[in-house]
Amino acid sequence: MLPSLPLSRIARAGSCRGVAAWSPAGHLATKLVGFAALKIVLLAIFLLISNQGVADRFVDFWQRDHVLGLFVFTGVWVIALAAVTIAAFLPALWMRLLWSVPIALSTFAGVLSLEVTRTHLTFFDVALYWAERGHLGDATEFYFTWVVIAGAKTLLGIAAILLPPIVRLPAPRALLFAPMAPIAVIVAMILIEAGRGTKAFPEQFSGVAMMSALAISDPFGENASRLPVHLVPGGAGAARHIFLIVDESVRGDFLDLNERRGVTPYLRSQRQRVANFGYAVSGNNCSLFSNLILRYGGVRARLAESVHTFPSIWGYAKAAGYRTAYIDAQKSGGRLQNGMTVVERNQIDSFEQPDHLPHAERDFFVAERLREIALEPEPHFVYVNKYGAHFPFTRNYPRTAAVFVPDMEERESVGADRERLVNSYRNTIRYNVDGFFRRLLQGGLGDVAIIYTSDHGLSLLDHDNVLTHCNSSAPHELEGLVPLLAVSGAPDLQQQLVEGALVNRNRASHFQIFPTLLELLGFDRAEVQATYGPGLLEPLAEADRAFSFGPVTGGAELEVRWKSLPADLRELVPTEPVS
Ligand SMILES: [Zn+2]
Repeated sequence: MLPSLPLSRIARAGSCRGVAAWSPAGHLATKLVGFAALKIVLLAIFLLISNQGVADRFVDFWQRDHVLGLFVFTGVWVIALAAVTIAAFLPALWMRLLWSVPIALSTFAGVLSLEVTRTHLTFFDVALYWAERGHLGDATEFYFTWVVIAGAKTLLGIAAILLPPIVRLPAPRALLFAPMAPIAVIVAMILIEAGRGTKAFPEQFSGVAMMSALAISDPFGENASRLPVHLVPGGAGAARHIFLIVDESVRGDFLDLNERRGVTPYLRSQRQRVANFGYAVSGNNCSLFSNLILRYGGVRARLAESVHTFPSIWGYAKAAGYRTAYIDAQKSGGRLQNGMTVVERNQIDSFEQPDHLPHAERDFFVAERLREIALEPEPHFVYVNKYGAHFPFTRNYPRTAAVFVPDMEERESVGADRERLVNSYRNTIRYNVDGFFRRLLQGGLGDVAIIYTSDHGLSLLDHDNVLTHCNSSAPHELEGLVPLLAVSGAPDLQQQLVEGALVNRNRASHFQIFPTLLELLGFDRAEVQATYGPGLLEPLAEADRAFSFGPVTGGAELEVRWKSLPADLRELVPTEPVS
């Protein structure tokens, strides 16, 4: 390691000897100056390539005459630049190492977000990714190319910070904690601005500040207290067993019931048996929030309030005398997902995760379990999180089941080739969805009512970024396009479902599923509608044409954002996903 020298000594060493004549001291000085220059150049490159849109943000504040915004933004940047410089010029290696860790983690997260989504990481993205951290391994594999790019940029920064400093800082020990300043300022901003306003902040500190803010706040209002079930069931349920099957990332146009593309031939062969509501709109473009909407009866006009304070579907099912069961084909080891709390978990009588099976076999297990439950005398309400088209797609079907080729190689990143991506998605749905229905619908169903949908749709490189869903700033319309169908083994109920599907074809959304479930459980339709709006069994006065995107937070501070869709959802469907 090179020693740290005061600048004056470097200058002395260089100047008192002739430049042309070689000498050990002169050589050392040249070397030291070279090192100093290298460190500064690397640091500058690191800051330049890992931050985007900073100038645009300045211009934006300027044009809007937003003096306070300009002042704060400039202040944050000045403090951050000073903090990075101090971190890089701390004298001891352990000091620089200490700060390189949070700076590297923060930069990596920020750059990865910029690379994948083309937008800046927000506080709510961090909160969401933290909640979904169980999928980190899968996501790394799916977006591997961008992980490498973000990793390379971050490594450059680590190298710049760790290179020995030539200039000695005044009072280095006192300055050891200086890089905490920008973190503290950004945390304060996040708390004051209810999670917003961090766009184009220095990536070197934003991410770690967001994690710090997350540790001291409850952005999704998960700990809010909830209302009790206030409705009283009016009579027996419409079916002994009621199943809500929420598939994963299955886009509406990939079922042959909606578009005949040879992806789900078995399901198409059963089209006389299923009540197909056609294309529907999801509640949100992200699993966590669409599942919350489905489990807690999200109401469009008061979404954040309903999702965070209304009773759960489990509470209603139990009040109606049903045994509650949850089958989660995605997670393992009893870990909870999609915003489920321990309080909610305690409302579930039977909690199953077929984590003993490979991913490609879990949906088939679910179908078998549902058929077993259908035979039980005790009434059951079952909520399923199916494995479906969970990323990475190649894990969802055996190689021998690759009907559509060429498909993705194992561990291939999402953006490498669109044709292979779509083919792998088709193979997934053919294997995991068509195969699931082949097992579920074999023979009669008995006194069972099933509603099937997907948590959200998917963008398969349908726009200029590779993020397939959960886009919290600029979602693609196809992220909200889901299938919706129902089926019953009870002839009268089946007739009602078919009639509902006829009048509401291509008109419904996730928001009608909860009231439909309550009606099926035996609650009075008028009372249900008074709180939750219409269900699927009566004609919808108007079609739902928007899905919420980004976080649906418990706090009232952040308004829910909506992505509008065309009046006729079929306009969204690409004529052919790939030519
Ligand atoms: Zn999902």
